[in-house]
This record gives sequence, C-alpha cells and structure tokens, in this order.
Amino acid sequence: MPIDPTLPYDDANIFAKILRGEIPCSKVYEDEWALAFHDINPQAPTHILVIPKGRYVSWDDFSASGSAEEITGFVRAVGAVARAAGHVEPGYRLLANIGMDAHQEVPHLHVHLFAGKPLGPMLA
Ligand code: 5GP
Repeated sequence: MPIDPTLPYDDANIFAKILRGEIPCSKVYEDEWALAFHDINPQAPTHILVIPKGRYVSWDDFSASGSAEEITGFVRAVGAVARAAGHVEPGYRLLANIGMDAHQEVPHLHVHLFAGKPLGPMLA
C-alpha cells in the first residue's frame, strides 16, 4: 500500500528497523550520512536502495529540513554507490517514489539505483 505522506515519520517502518540493525539487509555501502543495500525484490540485475540516515519520508521534506551536511552527504553517497557498483559506464537509473501517486511503499526516503541491463526509455 502506498503511504500517506502527511503522516509523521514512523519509527517502526522497515528501513528504520534496518538502520537500527533490528532486521538484516544486504549492505553495499555505508557512511555517516547514508546506507545502501540490495532491494529484496530486484527489478533489474542491479537494484540498490540508498537511504539517508535521518528521519525523512520525502525528498521535499529532506531538502527543506535536512542540514547542508546531510544533503551533501546523501547526494555524494548515491554517487559513491553508483561508482562502487561499477555502473558509471554504460549507465544507471536513479528513481525516488514520493507519496501516494508515485506509490511510495516505505515511509523512509530512498533512492532506487537500477543498472546492469539496457533500461529502456523512462515511463511516467
Ligand atoms: P517504494 O515503492 O517505496 O519506492 O519501494 C520500496 C522498495 O523497498 C521496494 O522495491 C521493495 O522491494 C523494497 N523493500 C521492501 N521491504 C524491504 C526489506 O525488508 N528489505 C529490502 N532490502 N528491501 C525491501
């Protein structure tokens, strides 16, 4: 079920539990600002989720409320994950589902990184 983005941050969401180490993940990257792990239901040969460590649901909330260090750190982490996964060439796709219409299911901000095959044109 997509989330209601007007609700406050839910500390019981699955990515909050992963961040606290309460449930396992297949980690590919971690630094002070971000954690990245393989999606449990991959939609491409490489499907990684990159999440900020702060309690943010949406990009608009993160960009408005996050500190400059958090935002810079997260953006740099996404790039580091792409480089570490070896997909700078021939390319990769970043996607963030935000809110009901985008069918965001987990109410902790995350960026999907898809790669490992020709991904075709973007579908709105
Ligand atoms: P959304 O639709 O919110 O953008 O995507 C949520 C993503 O989280 C989905 O691709 C789903 O497969 C992934 N996911 C949901 N639960 C878990 C989990 O417990 N572990 C991992 N690694 N991925 C999850």
